[in-house]
Amino acid sequence: MSRVSIGLRLTLWYLGIFALAQLIFGVGMWFILRESLHDIADSTLAGEVEDVRRFLEAQPSDQTLAELRNVVTGEYSAETGGDYLQIVDADGNWIYRSTALVQTGLPAVAPSLLRKPLHQDERVGKRPFRFVSARIDVHGRAFTVQTGTPTHEEVETLERFQTYLLMFAPLLLLAAAAVGYWLSRRALSPVDTLTRTARTITGHTLSSRLEKLHTGDELQRLSDTLNEMLARIEVAFNRVTEFTADASHELRTPISLIRTEAEVALRRSRGEGEYREALRHILLEAERTTSLIEELLALARADSGRQALNIQPIDLRGALKEVASGWRQVANVRGLQFSERILDAELRVLGDAAALRRVLDILLDNAFKYTPAPGGTVSLSAEEKDGTAVISVRDNGMGIAEGEQGRIFERFYRVDKARSREMGGAGLGLSIAQWIVQQHHGKIVVESTLGAGSIFRVLLPLAAANISQELLLK
Ligand code: ADP
Repeated sequence: MSRVSIGLRLTLWYLGIFALAQLIFGVGMWFILRESLHDIADSTLAGEVEDVRRFLEAQPSDQTLAELRNVVTGEYSAETGGDYLQIVDADGNWIYRSTALVQTGLPAVAPSLLRKPLHQDERVGKRPFRFVSARIDVHGRAFTVQTGTPTHEEVETLERFQTYLLMFAPLLLLAAAAVGYWLSRRALSPVDTLTRTARTITGHTLSSRLEKLHTGDELQRLSDTLNEMLARIEVAFNRVTEFTADASHELRTPISLIRTEAEVALRRSRGEGEYREALRHILLEAERTTSLIEELLALARADSGRQALNIQPIDLRGALKEVASGWRQVANVRGLQFSERILDAELRVLGDAAALRRVLDILLDNAFKYTPAPGGTVSLSAEEKDGTAVISVRDNGMGIAEGEQGRIFERFYRVDKARSREMGGAGLGLSIAQWIVQQHHGKIVVESTLGAGSIFRVLLPLAAANISQELLLK
């Protein structure tokens, strides 16, 4: 992980790009300025060459070398324009050479070597000069005219430009760094705010939210998304907290009953019969506790997503018959009437047989628990309706008030707490049943009238024949 903050990285990038741009601009401008200054000097020099050409043209064409030398010397030695001038013909004869150039020793260039004017920067004494060597053709004779002009002003201008550039570049860079830093801080300040708030959120303050941004950009999307995530975490966290609190509460009751029973039994010595009775109570409570723990574990596994169902094509009738035979005996013992009506045709669903048996056990257990014995009837039926297997558990027991029907699937919810506990229920059965049915992409519905009885229906999608075949062949 990089230890440099995004803000600093942005600033450095900004600075780097700015410095590069500044360098390119500075060097570019320096060259452009130099070229322009050269152009000015060169056009002055071209004018001087043109001057010489016109002067030579004005001379008679039959002049001897000595005559020509004389008139040129006469013309140019007096003039300032001739201070840095030298003229040579094609045979290397000097036509004119100013004193300054004799001292400098600027070499002559044969006209035949000059296709186009040649420019040179030279020093005369200590001063900078720009020279041109140009070929001119006059009266059929070729000459090289070399003339120079001082360029110290141009050089000074360039140096001044360079100095300003070097002087202002660091200042500009510093300003750019400051602006870059300020810009990145400004752009990233919402991130700091989000980080600060996020740091304060703990398990106890899950209801707080990150600051709502109105920037309309990625950061606003980020804070909105994080807030939505927080809301989901809060719901899940609350669920777990409630579940833990309810579970502890439920576990406390049987354990304190076991404890009380044992304490009372031990308070004085008793006969065997009394001890047996106490132990029977203890065993009963221990059994209840075991089944409560099993239910809690089932729900905890379901929540953690670790409860994997073994889904495969099954014929529901097998599970139904198996469960029904067990409950038939219970009905006999409890003096209730139990009937079953199961479709003849196959009821093929994709499901986990053991889990579906558990659903039926929960529904039948409730039907038996909440239906008083004399005259009580419980029936189990299974049929097919529009591609759905419908399993109904019907009883004519105490029923559930309409207002309660929506809540009975909630964890630990019991309509009549005392009564339900007496029957061994902790209010978890229906939540487990609902979870299993949902895992089968089905649903569970209740229809009930208080005092008249209830019908719980489990609807499961039937597996298409070809799908089940395919899965069976796998
Ligand atoms: P419990 O283990 O307490 O029965 P459940 O989750 O199975 O928990 O059921 C929740 C509550 O729904 C029960 O406490 C009971 O009040 C009510 N209930 C469930 N089934 C029936 C039924 N067949 N008749 C009447 N009430 C029922």
